[in-house]
Amino acid sequence: MTRDYYELLGVNRNASIDEIKKAYKKLALKYHPDKNPGNKEAEEKFKEITAAYEVLSDVNKRANYDRYGHESGGGSGGFDFSHGFTSTTDFSDIFNDFFGTGFGNRTRAKEHGTPGADLRYDLEITLEDVFKGVQIPIHYVTNVKCDLCHGTGSEGGIKPVQCNSCQGTGRVRSQKGFFTIESTCYACYGEGEIIQNKCKKCSGNGRKRDDVNISVSIPKGVEDGTKVKISGKGEAGARGGRNGDLYVHVKIAPHKIFTRDKAHLYCKVPVRMTLAALGGELEVQSIDGSKIKVKLPEGTQTGTKLRCKGKGMPHINSDTHGDLYVQVIVETLNPKHLTQKQIDLLKALDESTEQKHEGFFSKVKKNFLIL
Ligand SMILES: [Zn+2]
Ligand SMILES: [Zn+2]
Repeated sequence: MTRDYYELLGVNRNASIDEIKKAYKKLALKYHPDKNPGNKEAEEKFKEITAAYEVLSDVNKRANYDRYGHESGGGSGGFDFSHGFTSTTDFSDIFNDFFGTGFGNRTRAKEHGTPGADLRYDLEITLEDVFKGVQIPIHYVTNVKCDLCHGTGSEGGIKPVQCNSCQGTGRVRSQKGFFTIESTCYACYGEGEIIQNKCKKCSGNGRKRDDVNISVSIPKGVEDGTKVKISGKGEAGARGGRNGDLYVHVKIAPHKIFTRDKAHLYCKVPVRMTLAALGGELEVQSIDGSKIKVKLPEGTQTGTKLRCKGKGMPHINSDTHGDLYVQVIVETLNPKHLTQKQIDLLKALDESTEQKHEGFFSKVKKNFLIL
């Protein structure tokens, strides 16, 4: 049961945006995972209040929430630590104040050096991988920190000097008629400082293109399209700039046997018509490779779904599993593949059951005549 968002933040329903922000700040400071390492309860609480803040700080989402409550769809879900920070709400103004850097913000006022770009890596995995969770080595090429100058761009550790053209601001102003136009300083390319002794290896850039090999941990139970964020593994920042992040986009390859809907699996199993009629036991392969015995009730019709409890996919961040649904496809016997004796038996069976069916068909006919 999700608690009321206003209640969670401890504000009344007429609270102003400022009041909501203040209340959230206070609670976030208390429950932030960085302040409570390893404390699941605090993390849960933090997620809850953040979900509440996401909705109540957005005029449209709040209006929807006021009208429809949690059914409005504006609730939590965009915020999941296991997948990195995927929220659309801009928290940077809140978290800059007291956590400083490193909380997913990209909008710090004056960043030193050149920040690295975020990277995307498309990774296809199998349903079996999703079932177990996997570590997958990946390889890509990007700008990495130059090892000779340690990313400073300056050889021998000689400090860069302030740019004279812009007095270290990185911006210059010029007069065009009545207007003053501000632009990036051409002398230092906006860095505000000039390297006098450029590193030979990276030509003063502080970074160079190189191979990166890392191992990505994909948690079990992930959904197709999940983005796994790996902090700091994007392009390297240069001259003191921060590294970008790597986003691994998970694609799950179609499976030969199973289709999936969240934690449930579905498969189709052909069954001989005689077995379907008499009932018995079916042997089905599960996603972990083991064989499961499924009881087939007598008189099973084609299309019937048999449920194997707990034999589906794992729920994310949990030890519980969904179910496997085995759909029975009754296969009609083909006389081409039968012996004469089998055909005779079928004929005898057909004749002995005709009586019942005649009853059925005559009923249908009668109804037609009435119509
Ligand atoms: Zn270098
Ligand atoms: Zn300059």
